[in-house]
Amino acid sequence: MSLAGAYESSNIFAKIIRGEMPAVKVYEDEEVISFMDIFPQSQGHCLVLPKNVEARNLLDFPPERLGPLFQRVQKIAAATVKALNPDGVIITQFNGAPAGQTVFHLHVHIIPKYDNLPLERHHQGKMADTDVLREQASRIAAAIGK
Ligand code: 5GP
Repeated sequence: MSLAGAYESSNIFAKIIRGEMPAVKVYEDEEVISFMDIFPQSQGHCLVLPKNVEARNLLDFPPERLGPLFQRVQKIAAATVKALNPDGVIITQFNGAPAGQTVFHLHVHIIPKYDNLPLERHHQGKMADTDVLREQASRIAAAIGK
């Protein structure tokens, strides 16, 4: 999908936001939902998505909501660092299929990086075990606000 075009409410993340599809949730409030990436690039890879908005990417997202979105990204990234103790953390985001985007509801990746573990390539990770994702999500959730 190019950068131009209409938001499609049948995308998988819209379904997760509406509760029509399952996800291993990390955090949710009035602005965002955060859940574990099912094909993680590293241990603890999660996504943060704005709710109640039809934005395919960063370019069509209301600018007044950028602050609230990135406050949550910072909060969840800080909790990820506390909970999982990575050596670094990658915050990234793709706009349009040619840039690597595959799900067209705006989302931000939080990807812990461990010195001794190579990163899986974007879209080349293996499907994660749900129990492992649940355990990571509960540790990150417990660290939020601490
Ligand atoms: P994008 O490539 O659009 O930036 O990222 C989409 C991300 O969503 C990928 O990292 C992919 O692994 C993840 N993903 C795709 N489908 C699902 C799904 O059904 N559930 C979850 N939790 N993650 C998904």
